[in-house]
Parts: sequence; C-alpha cells; structure tokens
Amino acid sequence: MSGVPLAIKDNICTQGVRTTAGSQILRDYVPTFDATAVSKLRAAGAVFLGKTNMDEFGMGSSTENSSYQPTRNPWDPERVPGGSSGGSAAAVAARECAAALGSDTGGSIRQPAHFCGIVGLKPTYGRVSRYGLISYASSLDVIGPMAHTVEDAALLLNGGVFPRVLRLSSLPDFSPPCPQVSLPTFGLGLPAYYVLALSEASSNLSRYDGVRYGARTAGASDLPSLFCGSRGEGLGPEVKRRILMGTYALSAGYYDAYYKRAQQVRTLVQREMAATLASFDALLTPTAPSPAYRLGEKSSDPLAMYKGDLMTVNVNLAGLPAVVLPAGFVSAGAGGECGVQLPIGMQLIGRAFDEVGLLQLAHVYE
Ligand code: GLN
Repeated sequence: MSGVPLAIKDNICTQGVRTTAGSQILRDYVPTFDATAVSKLRAAGAVFLGKTNMDEFGMGSSTENSSYQPTRNPWDPERVPGGSSGGSAAAVAARECAAALGSDTGGSIRQPAHFCGIVGLKPTYGRVSRYGLISYASSLDVIGPMAHTVEDAALLLNGGVFPRVLRLSSLPDFSPPCPQVSLPTFGLGLPAYYVLALSEASSNLSRYDGVRYGARTAGASDLPSLFCGSRGEGLGPEVKRRILMGTYALSAGYYDAYYKRAQQVRTLVQREMAATLASFDALLTPTAPSPAYRLGEKSSDPLAMYKGDLMTVNVNLAGLPAVVLPAGFVSAGAGGECGVQLPIGMQLIGRAFDEVGLLQLAHVYE
C-alpha cells in the first residue's frame, strides 16, 4: 500500500485531522487518535488525501443531509452520488483517489457504489473494528472498502496485505441457471431497520450535549438552555427527526410495540437468511430500486428516501457480508433525458465471515 492514495469517510477518526461526521456539532472535532481501520492502512504505507462528505451521522441515502455541502454524482452532476458514503463513492468514481473507506449501517457503502458504478464491500458485522467509527447504530455499523475492482476492495479489507484469496486455480462452475429464492420475511426488514437504527441513534447521539461532546452554544444561562441550544444549533433536521422517532420507540409505553417487536423481526430475518445461505453460496439481488436520482428529487420526502433502502438493510440486520459490483448502465429515464447513461450495481450477499468465498464469486462475475 506504500504511497497508495486513499480517501476516508468523515465519520472515521483520523488523528490530527478534523472529523465531522457531516455534522455542525462536530465542526471543531479533531481526534487525538486514528480509527483502527485507518491505523492499519497507515502502517501499511497508505497516504490519506482527505475526508469525504457524507449524510450527517450516516443518516441518509443521497449525501444531501450533509450539513456542509452537496456532493454530485460524477456520471451526471445533476444527480446524487447516493449515501451516506456519497463522498467516498464520488471520489473513487471520479478517480480522485485509488480507493476509499466508507461505512454501512443500512446500505451506505453499497447503494452509493451502485449509484457511482464502483465496487463496495460491506463486511460481516464484527469483521472490521468499529474503534474510531462515530456511532450511528452500533449493532449495524460496519466500516468497509469502496474501490474500482474486487481485488482492490480485498486489498483494503486485508489491511493492505495482498489478497491471495482471489488467485483461483480453477473457477467454480456457474453454468446451471440461478434458482429464484423466496424470502417471505424480506419485506419486514425495512420497517424493523428504521425502528432499530433510530432507537440506537437516539441513545448514541445523546452524548452530543455541548458538555461531554460537541460544539457548545454561546451564551447559555443554565444547563437546560445549554443542552437545548447546543443540540438545537448543532444537529440538522433529519438527525432531529430520527432522534425523536427513536426516543419514541424506546419510551416506556411504546417499547414493546416498536423496539421489542422490531428485534423479534430482526431474529426472523436473520434466521431466514442464514437458512437460505446454508443451501446457496450467495444471493444475487438488485442494490436499490433505481439508478441515481436528481438532487432534490427525494429530499423533501423522507419516506420515499427510506424506501430506497429496501434491498440493503436486511443484510445489516443479519450481519452478513455483501458486495456491490458494477453491472452495466441504464438510460436515465423517459423524455428529454435520452442519452444519459447511468451505472447500476448488483448485490451479492454471502455467508457470515465468508468474505473469501464472497469475493471469489464477485471476482468471477466482475
Ligand atoms: N440510508 C440508510 C439510513 O439512512 C442507511 C445509512 C447507512 O448505512 N449509514 O439509515
């Protein structure tokens, strides 16, 4: 990795370099330490070009929830790069860096990889240390690589050690047609994800009060006005919406109906996916319902934005590894837009901790 230029999503701590997670409340936060993922790549000789834009605290699917600036899709600057790791995806797709680190709580590595035509790997939950990753939903958050090729993604996952796993002497036989598989609990994952992710977020983000963490409001007269002022000024509208929803789902009268029920659904999704993957090497799915959409197209409709995560969130609920690979181009849409070709990616979901098998398969399809 000596001299290899990388970009790092701005929710991954970099010693001496500002790390904001896309939020004003962390606008002055300069970590005194590297995240484990960063320190391993640094030790392998990688060079860090900069920190990449993202939806505030990872909460979004288009990078439009950054409190700093929008990021544009290099294939069409009127379109979003996806999110929340949209800055990393755009930087790789525009060849501003060789590869990048992103994070994936419900699709934030895979969906921007699909929108920008690159490779994105969400490792098995627990495969990559979360030390130094600014928490969104701790039971779902994973750091992973975004790159031009499967081999580059494997190199990054290996912490800079060259991946021998891809050197296959004989390729598996993929000639039989892929059977369609039915997953009856699949559609339950999206609502369960949004209850669980927001509940965890409401707890995780309580630390940003202007005292323990986060920028402090000026001129507060007492403790309540200090907390309210710091959080009111420092957190953006989508983050506030999610804290309120998560706090509601965890509150005494509603816990059983929302949080507990969502945990039960999570168990069903986990069991069903594990049972299916006991019979198959991997599951092949679309990554998202559409290619990159226009800036502003969904930003005023949070539910429409959440629904776009349908194909990715179950993988996080189940803790499984999944990789998104470039799968060609589609034309951008009817009327007036002919000629605009946008990349799409396909998702391969693998067995827990079998990144080797998953990446071998991806390498064959690539
Ligand atoms: N779009 C999803 C969300 O907003 C996933 C984000 C992520 O993976 N960080 O929660």
